[in-house]
Amino acid sequence: TFDVLVVGGGPAGAAAAVYAARKGIEVGLVADEFGGQVLDTLGIENFIGTEYIEGPQLMANMRRHVESYKVDIIEHQRVANVEREDSALTLTMEDGQSLTAKTAVLATGARWRAINVPGEQEFKNKGISYCTHCDGPLYKDKVVAIIGGGNSGIEAALDMAGLAKEVIVLEFLDTLKADQVLQDRLNELDNVRVVLNADTQAILGDGQVEQLVYKDRESGEEHTLDIGGLFILVGLVPNNEWLPETIERNGRGEIIVDERGATSLEGVYAAGDCTDQVFKQIIISSGSGATAALGAYDYLLRQG
Ligand code: FAD
Repeated sequence: TFDVLVVGGGPAGAAAAVYAARKGIEVGLVADEFGGQVLDTLGIENFIGTEYIEGPQLMANMRRHVESYKVDIIEHQRVANVEREDSALTLTMEDGQSLTAKTAVLATGARWRAINVPGEQEFKNKGISYCTHCDGPLYKDKVVAIIGGGNSGIEAALDMAGLAKEVIVLEFLDTLKADQVLQDRLNELDNVRVVLNADTQAILGDGQVEQLVYKDRESGEEHTLDIGGLFILVGLVPNNEWLPETIERNGRGEIIVDERGATSLEGVYAAGDCTDQVFKQIIISSGSGATAALGAYDYLLRQG
């Protein structure tokens, strides 16, 4: 039986494992794949204290840090359920095996919803980005398209308007879905243009994104935009589909946590992008992983 069993091997899981292991207790970390979303990130410039690092390198560093403590890393396993019986939790894997723990820290992260058009996979990190806080400066003085007219798309447009030469927002529906105050701010900017009813067909380029083809859903006409970069912001989906109903989630499917990372199921804590933490970033997820581990440890102390 583990004292703390961490589910997930991204920045939140890694931080939780290190913080828990430093208490000299039994710690396990089970992950589908150690590394998480950061493995898909080319350059990271906002992990404070490290001016530039590539995603795979950062996660190799985090893995080495976890492995420098006594942490049982169980990889290539997906957790499919967590249940509480008396004083112990049982975590069942997809292959039917199970692990028991006194506490768990869920850190299963999230994934960006894809639009599934030709070029999307090919140009990931080659002109296609998902986060303006991360990659905004790469597109300084360029023409940038943003797919998605919800809050994240319009926030990204406002953010990029200060850096890019021109910002073109493409919304599939006939109205923007973002909050009115964001839309009002957008309307004040003269380097932002909104295209409604835009159904993206393809992303083209030669090694790097150069063009975006969309169909006007009203007229049926196809248009091609020359762009230097593209943000696809059509929703971030937390990897929480497997959770039992005992773990409360909000309307977006994110686990609701308190300021100690505790969830609605006793002894179960959560951290990172799978939770309702507002901003989804590496440094923020690492911090919440540390918080959840300390929350779990505090709970163990009180159990005697
Ligand atoms: P994740 O990194 O998503 O890790 C989740 C972990 O859980 C993985 O190990 C996964 O295998 C595992 N897992 C999932 N489900 C299960 C299950 N059922 N059982 C077992 N294991 C499971 N942030 C920045 O701060 N700076 C950047 O420059 C930056 N660039 C980004 C670029 C891209 C392309 C993307 C996609 C994201 C970027 N982000 C960036 C955001 C950042 O990557 C995330 O905020 C961060 O990785 C979240 O960490 P996490 O540990 O919560 O989850």
